[in-house]
Amino acid sequence: MSVIALNDVVKRYQTGHETVEALKDVDFRAERGEMVTITGPSGSGKSTLLNMIGLLDTPTEGHIRLDGRDVTDFTEDELTEERRSEIGFVFQDFHLLPMLTATENVELPTMWDTSVDRHDRAVDLLHRVGLGDRLDHRPDQLSGGQRQRVAIARALINEPDILLADEPTGNLDQDTGRTILEELTRLKEDENIAIVSVTHDEQMVGYADRVVQLIDGEIQ
Ligand code: ADP
Ligand code: ADP
Repeated sequence: MSVIALNDVVKRYQTGHETVEALKDVDFRAERGEMVTITGPSGSGKSTLLNMIGLLDTPTEGHIRLDGRDVTDFTEDELTEERRSEIGFVFQDFHLLPMLTATENVELPTMWDTSVDRHDRAVDLLHRVGLGDRLDHRPDQLSGGQRQRVAIARALINEPDILLADEPTGNLDQDTGRTILEELTRLKEDENIAIVSVTHDEQMVGYADRVVQLIDGEIQ
């Protein structure tokens, strides 16, 4: 069963009298252990599609299923809970808090949860992304690639089924980008998660199991 599936999704934005159809009847799915990469020109609907997959915005028409459950009509609170437990987010510019150590940054999404041993899990994840010797470093004491590894560890702290990555190599040089892509490839198998990314990076497209190209709101 697909971990995430969009069926016949339409997204329209209304600004004043103008309506933009950002997604036109889109079908999309991702499986565990698979990296799906979304590409397409600026304005083709990539961010809109990523927002739908990340349950950050709701479709105008169509259905979204998470692990087979239809979440289309979930309330905002229910969607927030699904996002927190099922989806990890990684961004181009890392989004780390500068005053916190690597370990504290990784623990951050679980601050509300006292039931798990957050610290041990954060340390374990940092070891798994090769940063076992950088646990107490702050972001400004880390390289770009190391910062992105911290961000990836943070995205995995709640044991999500899906990792969403928005241009994860966008701020990295080619070689560092490759090490991050190799890391993601390893993680998708070890953790059995679906990775869905949006990118302009040709190198990243090469690491995808499947490429979804959007043009003018339609999958080609
Ligand atoms: P991409 O990420 O591929 O650049 P977007 O998903 O951001 O594309 O945008 C797709 C289309 O939807 C564009 O025409 C854009 O102007 C429009 N759009 C995106 N977000 C909004 C919004 N919040 N309100 C109105 N129009 C939007
Ligand atoms: P990028 O191409 O850098 O990803 P986007 O074009 O997707 O940036 O836009 C960034 C933000 O602006 C998104 O939250 C998107 O929803 C919003 N946005 C994009 N186009 C419009 C628009 N025409 N009107 C209002 N908001 C928009």
